[in-house]
Amino acid sequence: MRSDANIAGPMTDPVPGPRSESFGGDVSRETLPPMDDTPIGRAAQLAVEALGRAGEGLPRPAQTRVMVVANQKGGVGKTTTTVNLAASLALHGARVLVIDLDPQGNASTALGIDHHADVPSIYDVLVESRPLSEVVQPVLDVEGLFCAPATIDLAGAEIELVSLVARESRLQRAIEAYEQPLDYVLIDCPPSLGLLTVNALVAGAEVVIPIQCEYYALEGLGQLLKNVDLVRAHLNPKLHVSTILLTMYDGRTRLAAQVADEVRTHFGKEVLRTSIPRSVRISEAPSYGQTVLTYDPGSSGALSYLEAAREMALRGAEGTNEHDQHSMSEGIQ
Ligand code: ATP
Ligand code: MG
Repeated sequence: MRSDANIAGPMTDPVPGPRSESFGGDVSRETLPPMDDTPIGRAAQLAVEALGRAGEGLPRPAQTRVMVVANQKGGVGKTTTTVNLAASLALHGARVLVIDLDPQGNASTALGIDHHADVPSIYDVLVESRPLSEVVQPVLDVEGLFCAPATIDLAGAEIELVSLVARESRLQRAIEAYEQPLDYVLIDCPPSLGLLTVNALVAGAEVVIPIQCEYYALEGLGQLLKNVDLVRAHLNPKLHVSTILLTMYDGRTRLAAQVADEVRTHFGKEVLRTSIPRSVRISEAPSYGQTVLTYDPGSSGALSYLEAAREMALRGAEGTNEHDQHSMSEGIQ
């Protein structure tokens, strides 16, 4: 795995998904429709311009940053965060691999990546020891963005892994052996703390926790944080929670503000200043096999993910996220 050269790997052609309909039809939009006959390319360009407006250029990390997007609570925005942060980083020129580690395959769907049962997938990597390079597919329309898809096979992997050698570190080994250059690897975890999530925690250095701004937001998080502590103590000393992202923030409710305050009080500097608003465009994009960055680049959802990605990239580059490896689980159930 390198982070310094151009990718020119043996990628297979993905099958175009429903994205081709995305700019036709009757979808209402928050922003103006694309202006030329290559709408997705234009959309991507608009997103890059928006990023330019949002601030200075993004530094590329000196080494590949492997980031685990995890929260065992379901539906908090893990997949949405994974694909949209990944697309934001790639649109700014970074080389980014999304690893879909959830048998639901939502990240693969959102990136328009074919993941029917016969497609080579992350299951083959974990269980059959197939090289990662043989399952990675390029994401159409977003240069520099790649995806290792998940198929339904992965549902059996939690059990199949139990009897395999080095069952906790199979993903780590696969990523280490991947020879294409990458700036970021983002791993989308399932809503559980089983062997799939443990593989991600062993493979990564940074944990990104999306927290939905709803009642009970912090409940259950203690379990994840304890697992992070355990994996750090026994399997992966580099591991730390680097980033907390508030998602589905509804500025009209006091509850959202209260949850945000509580999260900021508990976690402090790990919480990104940018929070992600609740946005219809964000939730519509996956059904077109797109991220919100290409689906509606001028929308508030797209801009907030671009801004969150910028913060993340700058923090990593400046080393402001240096971790003291303390346990964060105290005071959280
Ligand atoms: P799971 O635990 O099932 O993997 P998840 O944590 O990956 O879920 P997502 O699938 O990203 O969560 O999001 C859950 C639902 O909320 C999806 O329908 C998604 O489109 C929607 N959603 C996520 N973020 C937003 C947002 N900012 N605004 C509106 N809808 C959102
Ligand atoms: Mg998900």
